[in-house]
Amino acid sequence: MLLCTKIRLEVSTQDAATLEFMQGKCRGLYNWWIGRLRNGEHWPGWQEAKKTLQASKQHDPELKAVYGKLLHEVYFRAEKAMQDFFRRCRAGEKRGFPRYKPRHEFFTLCYPAMYIQVEQNILRLPTGGKGKHKAFPDILARLTEPAPVTFREVAISRDARGHYYASFVSERQEEHREQGGTVAFDLGIKTLATGVNEEGRVYTIGGFKGHRWYNRQLDKIRSKRDRCKRGSRRYKHLSQVYQRVSQKKRAKRNDSLHKASHLISRKLVESTVVVGDLSQQQMVTDPRNAPNAHRNREVGNEWCVYTFVQMLIYKCKLYGKDLQIISEKYTSQDCSGCRNRQPMPLWKRTYRCSRCGLVMDRDENSARNILQRYLARLEPHTGDPVRCADVFTAINTFQHVEKGRTRGGHGSN
Ligand SMILES: [Zn+2]
Repeated sequence: MLLCTKIRLEVSTQDAATLEFMQGKCRGLYNWWIGRLRNGEHWPGWQEAKKTLQASKQHDPELKAVYGKLLHEVYFRAEKAMQDFFRRCRAGEKRGFPRYKPRHEFFTLCYPAMYIQVEQNILRLPTGGKGKHKAFPDILARLTEPAPVTFREVAISRDARGHYYASFVSERQEEHREQGGTVAFDLGIKTLATGVNEEGRVYTIGGFKGHRWYNRQLDKIRSKRDRCKRGSRRYKHLSQVYQRVSQKKRAKRNDSLHKASHLISRKLVESTVVVGDLSQQQMVTDPRNAPNAHRNREVGNEWCVYTFVQMLIYKCKLYGKDLQIISEKYTSQDCSGCRNRQPMPLWKRTYRCSRCGLVMDRDENSARNILQRYLARLEPHTGDPVRCADVFTAINTFQHVEKGRTRGGHGSN
């Protein structure tokens, strides 16, 4: 399977300027095409579009200073954007015509592996032109971590704080694992994941704890900033602090998600992992739970359960585990002892059965239900369990919705 390794780059001021110049030119070319397409012009396909590059270079000689392969990549990207658009039209989804790439976002530069050299820890990124026509020297960026030995392409990106990254796409051999044992996880609010296996052993994975502290700091910084004059030096300074702190929060949260998913997909002995299907979003859609908007924020925003499920999907694949995603409807209301169904408000942390008197942690009860449901389906086979692929699309559409709402980021990671 293909894996992406993202490594921070250290570049000189001169090289950073070159990168900015090249991404600006690539974005210009991309937006020029998007503009033509938005005006109703027909997309000729990347082969035909690529033939117009010489004419574009005549029109804007500065394009010659950009490495040619990067410009070719622009046509591939437009092609992909158009194909995705056509696919959405065919599927009857919301269409979303390809958009202009905004100036404040770095236009990711994609280098095919064969044009890139890694020596020691130095990544050599070529620029456009030859000999005396070369406007900028090749970029020499220092990698802060060793690069993968073989890779297919390298994407150069920049975050909001001005740090540069190289993402190496490489092929990784999937592991194989002896079959045996099943563990079910409930992904929740209080704990990130609560699991139970067939022997009744309970795993509790806590997740990132500091979000309250970080949110308080962030709110403080923002309120300080909002009392300053917009655009003043202090305002800019506090904006930078805000970005730094929120990035730190994001990094810590992602780190805990990676550790938790690694634990589940690699370290646990069970070969089958079952989780509830979160794409149904019952907590949002169920009108009885409507006053819990802030809880949704906690689950979706703070713990990024969707990111977590995505990590589980690729890590389980990589480490040879079987990941099953099944409907989690009523798993929190049903009693895992006697199958009695009773209303269960979201804020109640303990499940108390009114019929058989079972008292159990809410998440553990859900995990037991998920496990029982999965095992019941497994033996006398009834209906198809939701396969990973379905959930993949469910997650992807969810992310598109999210992205459309926030208009930020270009999901390269
Ligand atoms: Zn009961």
